[in-house]
Amino acid sequence: MIYRIRAHHGMCFSFFQGKGYSGEFAENMWKMKRKLEENPEVVLLDETDDVCSCCPNNRDGICISDQKVYGYDRQTLDRCGLQAGCRIRWKEFVRLVEERILSAGSRKEICGDCQWTGLCVREADGGPL
Ligand code: SF4
Ligand code: SF4
Repeated sequence: MIYRIRAHHGMCFSFFQGKGYSGEFAENMWKMKRKLEENPEVVLLDETDDVCSCCPNNRDGICISDQKVYGYDRQTLDRCGLQAGCRIRWKEFVRLVEERILSAGSRKEICGDCQWTGLCVREADGGPL
């Protein structure tokens, strides 16, 4: 089985601590996080994925914030030098996200207007917003 991962979720998994849009959403995130730690191949997307499948904001396969999160995906892909539809080992993707976005302190440039941004802070971001 190949996990379908929308690109910006490569950042979200790094910060996930159990909070989310619903109990079902958080449970699915934990389950996926454990599976992804086994370093499977994943396909990167700029549309709804295996995280969105358990999210109450997913309406018939479209996120209610579709334009906004599509922008997050596009920027994540561009900064990592990757294309939507590409297949990559999870840990290689995490390495790119870490190196080119999170450690570089660039995360807020991509998703600083997300409702969870206050929970997704690294030292490289200069501390809490
Ligand atoms: S808010 Fe949108 S992009 Fe985020 S998990 Fe839910 S459906 Fe997917
Ligand atoms: S701020 Fe939102 S989109 Fe950005 S990493 Fe956190 S949860 Fe994901």
